[in-house]
Amino acid sequence: MKLGVDVGGTFIKLYNGKNREKVKTPRSAEELVELIAGRAEELSAKGVCIAVAGLVNGETGEVTESPNLPFLNGLNLKEEVEKRLTGTAVRVVNDATAAAYGEFKRGSGRGSRLFLCLTLGTGLGGGAVINGEPLIGVSGSAMEVGHTTVCVNGWPCHCGRRGCLEAYASSYGLKRLYYINTEEDLPPHAILELAKSGDEKALKAIKALAFYLGVGITNLVHTFNPDTVALAGGTVVQFPKLIKLVEEEVKRRAFKLPGKALKVVGAELGEFSGAVGAYELAP
Ligand SMILES: [Zn+2]
Repeated sequence: MKLGVDVGGTFIKLYNGKNREKVKTPRSAEELVELIAGRAEELSAKGVCIAVAGLVNGETGEVTESPNLPFLNGLNLKEEVEKRLTGTAVRVVNDATAAAYGEFKRGSGRGSRLFLCLTLGTGLGGGAVINGEPLIGVSGSAMEVGHTTVCVNGWPCHCGRRGCLEAYASSYGLKRLYYINTEEDLPPHAILELAKSGDEKALKAIKALAFYLGVGITNLVHTFNPDTVALAGGTVVQFPKLIKLVEEEVKRRAFKLPGKALKVVGAELGEFSGAVGAYELAP
């Protein structure tokens, strides 16, 4: 048996090849390790892959920087979970890379030659699968799309920089985009619900998010020339019309040649792309 775990800023999703499970993310490293090791024990899992929101060293299993899960910074998650278990191999990967791989194997990226997947959640992650292989990078940190600059000296990002794509295209980005026009501090899901009911201010915030995401994806299209870009994560699940808005923005901005070859689609595995990908990547 294998276990795939996707640790996000708000929720953890687990997948064991059959069942999906979603639980609140614990607020300490000890509780997190205990939760994952407990589930692995119940399953008698031989391999566990943990996908984490943030920068992870794929070779050592250390989480080096996780802006949305600060209690994991500097923790060797692979060692900590392996210590709790006997005979179980643990691998740690970036959550967006896992999501891209999950979608490539079992979802919207099947058959793609050059597949990119962006996950909009608490933050903004990106992953790529090129000719069937996940793009990991030399240090395990390829495709940190959320922290590419779309606005020099723009809004502060959770990573400490300014003007990152994530500062606009994420759940906290959406809150800000709504706040600047309304001075109302609403949670992202409430803004998305308002937009669904046709509220103009909420739609304006979503269109602004689609604009920034379109800018970011055009940069990727001009770099990679992908056939498919998938959008994953809770925001897209709740408001699927975002996909079309983003595609229109990208097609408006991109060169004709790569623009024609491209389609922007929704992830098919819903919120579980990362957990399924982690399952597929488990040792
Ligand atoms: Zn950033």
